[in-house]
Amino acid sequence: MTRSEWRSLARRVVARDRHRCYLCGRWGSGADHVQPISEGGAARDPENIRCICDNRDRADNCHDRKTELEARAGRARADAARRGAAPTD
Ligand SMILES: [Zn+2]
Repeated sequence: MTRSEWRSLARRVVARDRHRCYLCGRWGSGADHVQPISEGGAARDPENIRCICDNRDRADNCHDRKTELEARAGRARADAARRGAAPTD
């Protein structure tokens, strides 16, 4: 998916969701994959994409928070895989 394809898809989703963040209900202009692509989520399916708040003025915006959670989950998966590969210390 090109950047411009994503932008037009995201615009459509944000309009569909009337700028309401699917996590906190505040106004938002971002779009986010509910199931991350890294976890097998559909990249282009509007059903897998929701409006999310990504206001950079707020430290607690849902997009940053979700990105951080996903990064942490990814690190945990990598750690588990490493432990699986080398079970004993
Ligand atoms: Zn939010």
